[in-house]
Order: sequence, then C-alpha cells, then structure tokens
Amino acid sequence: MERNQFVIEAAEVESMAKESGLSVLQLLPSLVKSAQKLARPPISKYHVGAVGLGSNGWIFLGANVEFPGLPLHHSIHAEQFLVTNAAIHGETQLKYIAVSSAPCGHCHQFLQEIRGTSKMKILVTSIENGGVDHQNDDDEAFSFRPLSTFLPHRFGPDDLLERDVPLLLELHHNSDNHHVENNVINGDVNCNSDVADHEKKSKCAALEAANKSHAPYNVCPSGVALMEVEGRIYKGSYMESAVYNPSLRPVQAALVSYLAASGGGGYDRIIAGALVEKEGAVVVQDGTARLLLFSVSPRCDFQVFHCRASSSSSSYNCKRLST
Ligand SMILES: [Zn+2]
Repeated sequence: MERNQFVIEAAEVESMAKESGLSVLQLLPSLVKSAQKLARPPISKYHVGAVGLGSNGWIFLGANVEFPGLPLHHSIHAEQFLVTNAAIHGETQLKYIAVSSAPCGHCHQFLQEIRGTSKMKILVTSIENGGVDHQNDDDEAFSFRPLSTFLPHRFGPDDLLERDVPLLLELHHNSDNHHVENNVINGDVNCNSDVADHEKKSKCAALEAANKSHAPYNVCPSGVALMEVEGRIYKGSYMESAVYNPSLRPVQAALVSYLAASGGGGYDRIIAGALVEKEGAVVVQDGTARLLLFSVSPRCDFQVFHCRASSSSSSYNCKRLST
C-alpha cells in the first residue's frame, strides 16, 4: 500500500480497506513502508516509519527527522512524529501503532504520556516478517502486541501525577490553569478577533499552542508557531515527558506540523516564527528553539515572547525579547 501523505481521513481509510480486502488494522503495517519513505534522516540514513490508528478512524503516519550540524537530541523520532501529528489533528487516542523497527527506550517513555498506554498495541514489521519483505500485505503472521510486553516495568505519569491531570492527547487548558488569557498578548493584540497582521497571527498562534502544551511536571507551557512563505501558520506545543529527556520541544512539534502538512516542503520556506513561554520558567525553550530553527532556515524572522500572569487582573502580559 502506497501513500505519500501523513494523514488519511476515515472515509479514505474505509475505501482503502474495501479496495484492498484488508481490515483497517491490517492497513497499518501495509503503510509502514510509505511512512519510512517520508523520513528525513540525513545523518543516520536509517528510515523509520510509524503508522497509528486514531479513535475516529483516521490513520496517522510518522517518520524520523534528523538535523545535520546539530546534536542528535534535536532529532525527532518516528513515534514522536506520529503522536504529534495525531495531536495536531485533535486525536485523543492511539490504540494501535505499526512501526518499522522496535520502539527505542526514548519512544517507550514518550508514549507513556498517553493515558492507558500499557494497553496500546504495537506491531513491529521488522520482527513480524523477520526482516524479509512479505509479498502479501494481509499476511496473518502480522500481530499486534501490548506495549507492556516491550516495556513491562514502566515509569510514567502515574508515578508523579494525580489521576485527573490531563495527559498527552487529552484536552489541555493551560490558560485556565495558569491564569493565562488567550485574548491578550503583548498588551495590544486581541487574538479572538480577526487578526490580519501576519506577525500578530504568529504570536497568537504560539500562545494558543502554549495553552495546549503538555507540561505537567515543571509547569512551563510553551508553544511555537511557524509561518511559511505563503502565510500559512503551523503550530507546535511542548510535550513534556515524566523522565524529561524524551520531551518534544515546541519548535520540533511545529516542524512536525509543517512537514505533516507540506509533505516534501523545504525548510527554507519557513520565513517567520514565534515562541511563547513563561517568564522565569525553569525549563526555557528560547535558546534551543533558535538553534534548531536557524540551522534549518537561517533567514527566518523568529520572535520570542516571555509571558507572566498579572497579579492584579486576569490579563497575561507577554513581552517581546530583543533579538
Ligand atoms: Zn525512538
């Protein structure tokens, strides 16, 4: 099965299953090679593809992304791409994932941020087919196994958070939690009105992404918005991991949003961006966001806003940092 897009809507999934004679679950491993072809691994040359089924019947693809000239921890793993892609499209659950290679420890930990993840079913195509290409996509040897069989002794949100704290893919309203008002940024932009100015659009989109970010451990929400040359905006929210290192930074998430939408679009089409984060945060995105963004799109106009809640009102003041 060939697809060169990162999202397949439910109606198309159904017709693909009908035409191919496969079940929807069997479609997932059949699409792994397509996902691998979407990878951007200029350092390792190792293409990883991940394909997940959402609760609404949509299929999401993910692929690994590497950035030459930067430390390897800037890399985006295929499973992280997949989860971010699902989050961007409002998906709240991923129960089945097919992936080309066994999920690494980093990705095991990242997946722990999704509620009920021990019941998530994983199929590793390189294990199922013994490294040999199957000619028949509906091979019954393909089977999904609970993630807990790969990582039986987990450490995750249950060890650190109350049960009612929203997890990854669940609805986050950081504006309510942290007295952040969506309609005020930098004191002069009403994000709820029609914002024509592109610069203001980026600021508002970054604030919206920050308000949706998953940052329960250090309470440092942050969001990035990237604008490409035709004015389209791509948002990315910070996704924090209980074990810190696998956390996905907002600029990475925004790049996933851009790649998922543009497919083969070059990074140099990204001409502007904005980061919104908390003033005085213990986890700061500013420096690392600039490093990554300027390495892929050196001419990008990137603005950073550090925001703080006002003690005297419900407004949330964000000031632009000088660059
Ligand atoms: Zn991984």
